[in-house]
Amino acid sequence: MNIAITRTTNPRKKPDMKGIPFGTYFSDHMFMMNYTEGKGWYDPRIVPYGTIELEPSAMVFHYAQEIFEGMKAYRTEKGRIQLFRPMDNIIRFNNSGVKLCVPHIPEEDFLQALKALVEVDKDWVPSEPNTSLYIRPFAIAIDPQLGVHVAKNYLFCILTCPVGAYYPEGLNPVKIAVEAREVRAVRGGTGFTKCGGNYAASLHASHEAGKKGFSQVLWLDGVEQKYIEEVGAMNVMFKINGKIITPSLEKGTVLPGVTRRTALQILRHWGYEVEERDISIDELIEAADNGTLEEAWGTGTAAVISPIGEISFEDKVHVIGDFKIGELTQKLYDTITAIQWGKSEDPFGWIVPVC
Ligand SMILES: *Cc1c(COP(=O)(O)O)cnc(C)c1O
Repeated sequence: MNIAITRTTNPRKKPDMKGIPFGTYFSDHMFMMNYTEGKGWYDPRIVPYGTIELEPSAMVFHYAQEIFEGMKAYRTEKGRIQLFRPMDNIIRFNNSGVKLCVPHIPEEDFLQALKALVEVDKDWVPSEPNTSLYIRPFAIAIDPQLGVHVAKNYLFCILTCPVGAYYPEGLNPVKIAVEAREVRAVRGGTGFTKCGGNYAASLHASHEAGKKGFSQVLWLDGVEQKYIEEVGAMNVMFKINGKIITPSLEKGTVLPGVTRRTALQILRHWGYEVEERDISIDELIEAADNGTLEEAWGTGTAAVISPIGEISFEDKVHVIGDFKIGELTQKLYDTITAIQWGKSEDPFGWIVPVC
């Protein structure tokens, strides 16, 4: 793929990385590429970051035919820039695309676009501890036409933005609430995809929980409202009686997180028994109350590992591990981030260097 690069003549001032809020400062450039039925993907280009013009009838505004990804580029102590398991994100993007009828993007072109964009904006990859360059690829249906159908025209775009340490004061346990009425995903639906619609549909429950002082909701399955699925926009794991238990991906209602896969591989490598299976809220609450629930944490690219200190269910609060970060939770965080920032060896071959 031949990427045309137009560099900005007006580079923007870089923000102070201290306390920079997530997703508010964008780098100087973005990658774009168009698709038209019969022609395929064309016109790959890196251009200065700026607005895009679409007709109000553009299909994405009405029918939400959209998919996205979230990943990061990391600067090592030697000043090198690297990606973490980018192929996993690329493959997941195309899997989301199958469900949302967004045309496939050749994996090697996608990776080339990621590397080229990060290299053009390499000065935007911050070097302060625990900072990174967040990367947001997305594709939208842009046919200027109403009426529900699969679009014939798409825009694929990649934005990047420097992000600060997710936990400036170190890992902090969060309080979560079991969501017993609303659901995030149903069997046969879009739960396994990263599509904007999933997020729109989750806003109400999260917002209500936020008003009550919870930082996330614990989602239950959409059929029986009995089995645990995810925590907010993260996958969830529990250490019960020494074993690691996490909801399985089988029903297609749980997002196949890259951090989830990473954590499970490391845990198995360390010799932990890992069970990917249904876990009911009753089983979890029982374990919390009889003291066998030793640790609980969420996994996702943004926070990496997010310890859970407290679960609220039917107006009762169940504290986990005295509201302190579990030993394994901390060790997982330290191990994964050390690989991502190039502070330790990468025995699994997850790192892809950029420049
Ligand atoms: C993105 C996402 C995750 C985490 O996936 P990672 O690849 O680890 O970042 C988990 N759940 C939902 C709903 C998500 O959208």
